[in-house]
Amino acid sequence: MTDTHTVLNPATAAPVAEIALTTLAETDAAIERAAAVFGAWRDIAPGERARLLRAFATVVDAHLEDLARLEVLNSGHTIGNARWEAGNVRDVLNYYSAAPERMFGRQIPVAGGVDVTFHEPLGVVGVIVPWNFPMPIAGWGFGPALAAGNTVVLKPAELTPLTAIRLGELALEAGLPEGVFTVLPGKGSVVGERFVTHPLVRKVCFTGSTEVGKRIMAGCADQVKRVTLELGGKSANVVFADADIAKAAATAPYAVFDNAGQDCCARSRILVQRSAYDEFLGRLETAVRSLRVIDPADEASEMGPLISAQQRAVVTGYLDGVETAFTGAAPDDGGFAEGFWVPPTVVLADDPALPIWREEVFGPVVAVMPFDDEEEAVRLANDTEYGLSGSIFTRDLGRALRVARGVEAGNLSVNSHSSVRYWTPFGGYKQSGLGRELGPDAPNAFTEEKNVFIAQD
Ligand code: NAD
Repeated sequence: MTDTHTVLNPATAAPVAEIALTTLAETDAAIERAAAVFGAWRDIAPGERARLLRAFATVVDAHLEDLARLEVLNSGHTIGNARWEAGNVRDVLNYYSAAPERMFGRQIPVAGGVDVTFHEPLGVVGVIVPWNFPMPIAGWGFGPALAAGNTVVLKPAELTPLTAIRLGELALEAGLPEGVFTVLPGKGSVVGERFVTHPLVRKVCFTGSTEVGKRIMAGCADQVKRVTLELGGKSANVVFADADIAKAAATAPYAVFDNAGQDCCARSRILVQRSAYDEFLGRLETAVRSLRVIDPADEASEMGPLISAQQRAVVTGYLDGVETAFTGAAPDDGGFAEGFWVPPTVVLADDPALPIWREEVFGPVVAVMPFDDEEEAVRLANDTEYGLSGSIFTRDLGRALRVARGVEAGNLSVNSHSSVRYWTPFGGYKQSGLGRELGPDAPNAFTEEKNVFIAQD
């Protein structure tokens, strides 16, 4: 009997779909098929591969609203966010559709001949996706990997397979040859692990928890398999007293409560310079209380539920015994009584050893702590094993630069909370990851660089 997973609507806990889980034998068959078609995909004329990726982007665009609605149903994302996410897949495909004709090598001066380099695709790439951003994170892997001439097998998270399955169908509809991009819904312990152990998978592109990422990296070592890791975060939002405090306080909730805090880039630690602390907290309270935490399908919704009852238990577990300063709202009646809601919650932290200050909660919880000077702010921001993102609010340009250079994180934003842009590099320092995704160089991360010397005599 086929093993299945029941997909639930996180806003209501109502069943939405029953998805068959890919078995080990089916995973092997898909990897072998991806390996079999790799040669043809690699050798296709660059302009033709580019055209197929643009066609894929066009088909995604034509289905943008359906994909967005599917994500609201499966993941509880607000409809506004879900539209952005589907649009991001389209944009990533369009951006990397310009790559096939631009996979430039170099000509390096040597004596006695010519030396040239080539960027050659790896073969089959395995992309493993978490449940928090099912569409964008899938696209950040398969877009540049396909553009560089690899074939892709992709495993969505157990909880959120629906949009990935749909993207797999749309790829075929756009004309990508069978086997070039295959979506395999299933368990991490079956499909995901097979990407690590199967010798025909030449690279694993993993996004998820630091814990699983470490296991994947260790597993890949056995075959010296290439790996990209995008892992957890505990990012700091550092607010100096000279900043526009009204702007810093008004935007802070969106930097941590977007996607109900289930965001690896969530600025879940707010550091505020002591002289501005009271004003900031007062303004933050107003902003948090006015956040619209309502039906994610409502156009006005700013925050939806958590992904699962289990995730809600993890998040509320962090709040046990912790004094909350204030919270926002969350629906708890009508059709939403059974949904996985947690209100946006603000905690005052006075000790950097507290789990709520150190650990990734991955829910709508933010901890606020005062600091005295720039040196202390940077030290506290860096006092974490993570290093993914962060924000700095100040009107002092020199300070903005010093702190941006001082914070050990891959993605920083000054006087803003910039989200990920597909045309700039994204990735983590320390235990937030290994390698970079997106930006102009992403296709190269799915290639080997080959050097060829040709003697002239
Ligand atoms: P997770 O690590 O539990 O799972 C991620 C994926 O790995 C899922 O598809 C899962 O099925 C699979 N998996 C689980 N065990 C596996 C194994 N042994 N071998 C291979 N694959 C396996 O993470 P999650 O709970 O789905 O996602 C939340 C985490 O992802 C958070 O820690 C978050 O910070 C992180 N995240 C990081 C980024 C980033 O870009 N840095 C982006 C989004 C999420």
